[in-house]
Amino acid sequence: MSKAFFIDTTLCTACRACQVACKQWHDLPAEKTKNLGTYQNPADLSFDTYKLVRMNEEVIGGRLQWLFFPEQCRHCVEAPCLETAGDEEAIYQDPSGAIIYTAQTKRLNAAEIIESCPYNIPRKGPDGTLAKCDMCLDRVINGLLPACVQTCPTGAMNFGDRDAMLQMAQKRLDMVRKTNPQATLLDPDDVSVIYLTAYDPGLYHEFAVASNSAFDVTRTVALRKMLRPLTRITSRLL
Ligand code: SF4
Ligand code: SF4
Ligand code: SF4
Repeated sequence: MSKAFFIDTTLCTACRACQVACKQWHDLPAEKTKNLGTYQNPADLSFDTYKLVRMNEEVIGGRLQWLFFPEQCRHCVEAPCLETAGDEEAIYQDPSGAIIYTAQTKRLNAAEIIESCPYNIPRKGPDGTLAKCDMCLDRVINGLLPACVQTCPTGAMNFGDRDAMLQMAQKRLDMVRKTNPQATLLDPDDVSVIYLTAYDPGLYHEFAVASNSAFDVTRTVALRKMLRPLTRITSRLL
């Protein structure tokens, strides 16, 4: 059954327990960083950082607001990176919906894969391999929650069957909208990591939502692949 995350940013305190848990479970090294005038650390996702709590300060309605965005791969329902790769030994989709990158990503055109992602997620390592969040698939197939969800102390991060997560997200959206009419769910039909933001998503992060064209391109590529055998038969008959 398809799985999904529901990430309620209105409950996130930016404690970064999820970020640390992700590193710990995947045995990823810490990175040397520097102060860039923000509490966000490190500055960006990397080959060794699959989960990053983005922090932004904005004045909204005359009040200073801290906007937190625990970012990770969205495990797109029809993933542009997977379609672009066209190589199931390098990038494949598990029945849970997780989009998984293998060591074979080394043989892909990294720039093309990175460019195809509407959320700017994959990162290239020194040997050319690409890396990103793997939904903690080893935990999930053994009945455990992803490490980031397991560790979140506020209930901001949730994980379960897709239908249940969508229901939870809608219920929470209805509640948050009573005080923040701008509250919204980000691309819920296209992704398996559904965010709720209280304000304009663009205030949280440049890549919080996908441009529609990114998914349109994916669907066109997918349709072309489906029609390819038919095209071959037709051309043989003509
Ligand atoms: Fe691929 Fe990017 Fe979608 Fe993740 S968010 S599945 S890397 S296209
Ligand atoms: Fe990291 Fe696992 Fe959470 Fe993905 S699901 S961000 S790999 S802890
Ligand atoms: Fe936010 Fe939960 Fe991550 Fe803490 S663990 S930063 S509350 S999502």
